[in-house]
Amino acid sequence: MHPSNPDHLPRLFVADDLAINAPISLTPAQTHYLARVMRRGLGDAVRLFNGRDGEMLARLTDITRNSALCVPEVLLRPQEPEPDLWLAFAPLKREATEMVVEKATELGATRLIPVLTARGVSQRINAERWQAIAIEAAEQSERLSLPDIAEPVKLPALLASWPVDRPLFAAIERTSASPITAQAGPAGLLIGPEGGFAPDELEFMRRHPFVIPASLGPRILRAETAAIVGLALLQARNGG
Ligand code: SAM
Repeated sequence: MHPSNPDHLPRLFVADDLAINAPISLTPAQTHYLARVMRRGLGDAVRLFNGRDGEMLARLTDITRNSALCVPEVLLRPQEPEPDLWLAFAPLKREATEMVVEKATELGATRLIPVLTARGVSQRINAERWQAIAIEAAEQSERLSLPDIAEPVKLPALLASWPVDRPLFAAIERTSASPITAQAGPAGLLIGPEGGFAPDELEFMRRHPFVIPASLGPRILRAETAAIVGLALLQARNGG
């Protein structure tokens, strides 16, 4: 039976391919979440997505303490391309960084690039933890895909490898730079560390024509706030 409103069904990211009638095994953590937290059992419906095959309504056909099987029955939403928006940011203290990963996923960033800058506080990137946070944020925000999580890169190497036809809006405080007002299309946002970019980094950025200095207003925002605001402004070009 197709529930009349699938919007309230639990929603899980799975790595496997999704196809109608092809059973999907859930992990022990997903099983625990469905059985113990959401109190779901045999025959109940869930929503599954994997970033490739859209969102499927699936039925729980087997459930034990540590494992469960779901069988996809109906395609609820086909996979659709998303606005192509990369966020390059200097990792912050752990909690702030994790907030950026979560909010950037909610806001539809398609790639997260940790950038190592002169004044950055932390160079330890826990990619597995970032992935887990991104999965939870995608499940909650009803996104159909996850952002790619790139390897950390030093700022000069980021700029050297940046696609020249993709504008990179570099958020720079205390300048007369314009606010973000660009046409929709592939773009990137660059956010500096709490200490801001160093003068030679700003100078180096200016040498790259695809770098567009951007102001986020007269107030000095924390880096995590700047990432959220910048992404929201860039997504507004795509209708949110
Ligand atoms: N320590 C710097 C200072 O006092 O001038 C502030 C750095 S700010 C806390 C961290 C990052 O957020 C900056 O590198 C920049 O990318 C971004 N940011 C914060 N406020 C901004 C604003 N009003 N306009 C543009 N970018 C901003």
